[in-house]
Amino acid sequence: MHLDARDLDNNTIIEGDLCIVGAGAAGISMALDWNKSGKKVILLEGGGFEYDSEIQDLYSGNSTGQKYYPLRSCRLHLFGGTTGHWGGMCAPFDPIDFKIRSWVPDSGWPITLDDLVPFYTKAQNLFELDAYNYEFQYWQEKHPELTPFPLDKNIIWSKMWQFSPPTRFGKTYKETIVKSPNIHLYTYANLTNIIANEEVHDIKQLIVKNHEGRTHKVRAKNYVLACGAIQNARMLLASRGQTKKGIGNDRDLVGRYFMEHLEVKSAQLWLKKSFSTDLYTFDYSTRKPRAELALNEVIQEEAGILNGSASLTPLVIAKQQTPLIDLWSNKDPRKSYDRLVANFRKSREKKDTRKDENGNRAFELYTRMEQAPNPNSRIVLSAEKDALGVPRPQLHWELTELDKYSIRKMYHILGEQMGKANVGRIKLEEFLWDENDNSMPDQLGGGWHHMGTTRMSADRNKGVVDANCKVHGISNLFIAGSGCFSTAGAPNPTLTLVALSLRLSDYLKTS
Ligand SMILES: Cc1cc2nc3c(=O)[nH]c(=O)nc-3n(C[C@H](O)[C@H](O)[C@H](O)COP(=O)(O)OP(=O)(O)OC[C@H]3O[C@@H](n4cnc5c(N)ncnc54)[C@H](O)[C@@H]3O)c2cc1C
Repeated sequence: MHLDARDLDNNTIIEGDLCIVGAGAAGISMALDWNKSGKKVILLEGGGFEYDSEIQDLYSGNSTGQKYYPLRSCRLHLFGGTTGHWGGMCAPFDPIDFKIRSWVPDSGWPITLDDLVPFYTKAQNLFELDAYNYEFQYWQEKHPELTPFPLDKNIIWSKMWQFSPPTRFGKTYKETIVKSPNIHLYTYANLTNIIANEEVHDIKQLIVKNHEGRTHKVRAKNYVLACGAIQNARMLLASRGQTKKGIGNDRDLVGRYFMEHLEVKSAQLWLKKSFSTDLYTFDYSTRKPRAELALNEVIQEEAGILNGSASLTPLVIAKQQTPLIDLWSNKDPRKSYDRLVANFRKSREKKDTRKDENGNRAFELYTRMEQAPNPNSRIVLSAEKDALGVPRPQLHWELTELDKYSIRKMYHILGEQMGKANVGRIKLEEFLWDENDNSMPDQLGGGWHHMGTTRMSADRNKGVVDANCKVHGISNLFIAGSGCFSTAGAPNPTLTLVALSLRLSDYLKTS
């Protein structure tokens, strides 16, 4: 059922078994998992079913450090969340992403890939993907035309990706949620404060507000924050009624370890002779699975580098593409999105790779790499408040030497292997030439992936949530989303954050 919180009498008390705050990828996935469960699920969504610039403005905030997208436009504040803009690229994390790596400070999750596999399988369905199978052999059997470069398999592997249509959660799942007998969706219900008991061991109620001046109280057995990594941290930090540092922040960890993916044009690949590159290049019309070039675990360890991969785009197309960080500069997310789509279309329409003499020989290599966990890369509260009285977030995005070193080293290894196998040569972009230069170019953008602000650790001195995404020290407060990632992994985060949210859902049902 659906209720508009603006129509409720002021000071309404809403009660239920489970309260999920935020109806984006994480929140809707969890709510659907409780559909027809007989439990009363309250799903609070700050926005409505359509874009509303007054609501979107609640996301505004400043950033310092590495150049970043405007905070106002890199998330969507309405039912369905940012799945209204996402691109649908999906791949699971690799086993190494969960391990403690001596060369990556603060690495290691308290769970493994195997713990997530059953939930990845469920998440695949929500994203309208094929089977949960990311083995290259599986896809080659289905599409025999997919052939990898003849590179040393002990060093380089084909990391497979699948592509969601992309599923827009706000459209695809609206009817199920609204017609559900037990999910009570409240739109225009913005969380503004989390109230704990005096000892800050339990959450007693949430305060929600809207621009019409109505304030309501929400009470449930368990509470899940699913507002996205920046907003979840912001809400915890801003809830200071019972503890000055903010809820869950007694170890000063909330907001720290903000991570993005390091996405940047990094090199060119010039093939020596003609190879089929179907496996590696993205086909927008079919959205078929494709592979990226990735380094094996042992090679990452030997080289002391982060996990990452390189994707191929014909150079004639890539040259027409403006860096994402420049395209996505408008504070109105719809305008930034339109520019992004127009640029992709134009670059592909203008150039027919078959007609260009280098069309099938020269490729741009684009990096997608995890960012090393860094406590100084963080979200804090600014002095300025939004229209509902909540301090705005401020991002300081900070990268480290290991980030730059890892990108450069990955291409050194790829180049060496391409040469050895007589596949071709790699020419590095200029920003990677000077080995003593640890700065990142302005053209580096993230993938609009916000991770790590409420990181997971079994040790409450090192993380905000435990292995079940429960906030340390608080009995009934949980976090859903990529804020819980201990490390960022190389792939885009949404498949993994939904798998993790479904695992949390399962835990709440059985605990
Ligand atoms: C242009 C673009 C392309 C992308 N492409 C990809 C891709 O190809 N692959 C991939 O994996 N990821 C991609 N992403 C990232 C992906 O969109 C996010 O990882 C995903 O949407 C995060 O899910 P979430 O549920 O945590 O947050 P969101 O989807 O942002 O949902 C958060 C929800 O919480 C609500 N909310 C926020 N604050 C409050 C509050 N105080 N009270 C109540 N409700 C609140 C919001 O309105 C929203 O509905 C892309 C993102 C962008 C912008």
